[in-house]
Amino acid sequence: MPRLVMKFGGTSVADLDRIRNVARHVEREVKAGYDVAVVVSAMAGKTNELVAWCREASMIHDAREYDAVVASGEQVTAGLLAIVLQSIGIPARSWQGWQIPIETSGAHGSARILGIDGSKISAHFEERREVAVVAGFQGVHAPTGRIATLGRGGSDTSAVALAAALEAERCDIYTDVDGVYTTDPRIVSKAKRLDKVSYEEMLEMASLGAKVLQVRSVELAMLYGVKTYVRSSFDDPTDPKPGTLICDEEDIVEQQTVTGIAYSKDEAQITLRRVADTPGVAASIFVPLADAAINVDMIIQVVSRDHATTDITFTVPAGDYARARTLLEELQPKIGYESLEGATDVVKVSAIGVGMRSHAGVAAKAFKALADKGVNIRAITTSEIKFSMLIDAAYTELAVRTLHSLYGLDAA
Ligand code: ADP
Ligand code: ASP
Ligand code: MG
Repeated sequence: MPRLVMKFGGTSVADLDRIRNVARHVEREVKAGYDVAVVVSAMAGKTNELVAWCREASMIHDAREYDAVVASGEQVTAGLLAIVLQSIGIPARSWQGWQIPIETSGAHGSARILGIDGSKISAHFEERREVAVVAGFQGVHAPTGRIATLGRGGSDTSAVALAAALEAERCDIYTDVDGVYTTDPRIVSKAKRLDKVSYEEMLEMASLGAKVLQVRSVELAMLYGVKTYVRSSFDDPTDPKPGTLICDEEDIVEQQTVTGIAYSKDEAQITLRRVADTPGVAASIFVPLADAAINVDMIIQVVSRDHATTDITFTVPAGDYARARTLLEELQPKIGYESLEGATDVVKVSAIGVGMRSHAGVAAKAFKALADKGVNIRAITTSEIKFSMLIDAAYTELAVRTLHSLYGLDAA
């Protein structure tokens, strides 16, 4: 029998009515002759609630216990969906990460999948034609036997990894939108749904803020060539639409210069004023940050006029801002800067498209368009298939809409 992995996110399993609707999608595929593994997220809002409880219990807490708590949301939905499937005559059972097992690294809270043993699920397919309902977001760190979670949005990664392990024909990611759009359809009503998007572009879009898929899930889909669709659980289960296929670049006939616009509010800016303009100074700033596992993204160093001092601006994830600041303040005597300025009300807006490889001046058009709207650009980075600009958060929607129409992405 061909195999299929179907994944349903939080809004798609938000209550029992929604779970019954999911069961109808599963029933359709079982009747079409597939052996199905369904990966489920926690009910909408549940993970946030569990995270908040951990913080309320103690701001500083054991990451292994955090994982024990936050993984529970998925256990509930997996059990409930199995019950509902059984009630409509479809053999089903729930699986938690450790039961399969899905083995992960020991990086609690953001663990990586190291391997999945698909043999037990396969045996259940063959012996009982039983649907496997898998709790997403979680696995087990084998050396310690502790539950580990895969980082927020991690059920996408569970699904793609399982599809690779089970050699599934495809992996369908069902969510609350009917595919991948040219930008977040919740902020730009003229966003267009894409029929296909390349792995590379999807990887950039996800990394640059489009939370429709977790970054790691796209990496795995690309690595293992998993045919992955993003589609809507809100479609009529008897008449579903195909959604968006994430596929190889070669499989996309019509290439745009810019395929999508993404934005991320998860940024903070730090500027060090009057840093000594001597060899080794960049290392004295960025090595300690790297050692503290703080990811630095955009970096700007101004060419000094006097060859004596310079200003260095860079961005870090908003969640690491306080830690980065404290660390740099402690290191002030060693680095030797005059003052530190920081800003958290910033956003990174990016344009992504494989067509940028062969077109010049794509980013320059954006700088002009934003300038015409009075939006100041604080920092810029570019790479082969994307460019990003750091701007004041207040201009997020204006900037995203401006770029979206500038590159001809608006729906007619
Ligand atoms: P789920 O709970 O199903 O995992 P998520 O909330 O994680 O769903 O992801 C779906 C959301 O991603 C959509 O509701 C949409 O607002 C957002 N999103 C951001 N960028 C895009 C994009 N380019 N295309 C589609 N959705 C996007
Ligand atoms: N429930 C987890 C979260 O909210 C995992 C997921 O939904 O993918 O992050
Ligand atoms: Mg998600």
